[in-house]
Amino acid sequence: MQSYRMVMQYRTKELYRLQRADNRQYKQTKKNFRKTYPYIHLTREERYEIIKKIAEVVSQWRFARVFAECVDKVHFDPARRLRTVDEQAFEQVVSRFEHFLHAISTPDNKIYGLLIHDNNETVARRHTVLMKRFHQRGTLWTDVNHIIETPLFVDSELTSMVQIADMVAYALRRYLENGESGLFDLIFTRADKRQGAVVGVRHFTHNQCRCQICEAHRTNKEKLV
Ligand SMILES: [Zn+2]
Repeated sequence: MQSYRMVMQYRTKELYRLQRADNRQYKQTKKNFRKTYPYIHLTREERYEIIKKIAEVVSQWRFARVFAECVDKVHFDPARRLRTVDEQAFEQVVSRFEHFLHAISTPDNKIYGLLIHDNNETVARRHTVLMKRFHQRGTLWTDVNHIIETPLFVDSELTSMVQIADMVAYALRRYLENGESGLFDLIFTRADKRQGAVVGVRHFTHNQCRCQICEAHRTNKEKLV
């Protein structure tokens, strides 16, 4: 309880300071504080332990597959790609999911998949438009025949699977930006693989990157040649 009171005191003070100094920062900080409010009775270590436990459970889910596109914005040129970072990443993930569904289907048992999107106002409309286009014309890499047409939007606060996807994204980000491998090592074991090589997760960056994702991807390319 002591820590809860101290955090609240610090936060109130910080908000007063920002209110006078920087309005934009004030609004962002206020939002961050509101969203993290349910966790402030826990120490940083306790919070990390919870995420770690969730990652450990996910790492044991043999049926689960992770698909992700991690874009290093420094190396991404939207003009050359004719797409925004968000669009390209979405197209990649949809294509990989389609490939996965195709791979696990058999001639007499076609497996269908459903995409569940976080109901985020800024992307919901764009994703709906993009999905319609992918269904009609395919993505850059594949036709879309195994993903059910209607995108399903859910409120992430009420949907634990979307929160788990967020945790996976967090683990990937902390690994690529900060070199933290505690969570990454657990969830990367669930990345979709084909013949032992990772195909579900990619790091879009310079060619010389030696991170585990790029190395796993390189191995894959060599195997395909
Ligand atoms: Zn890399």
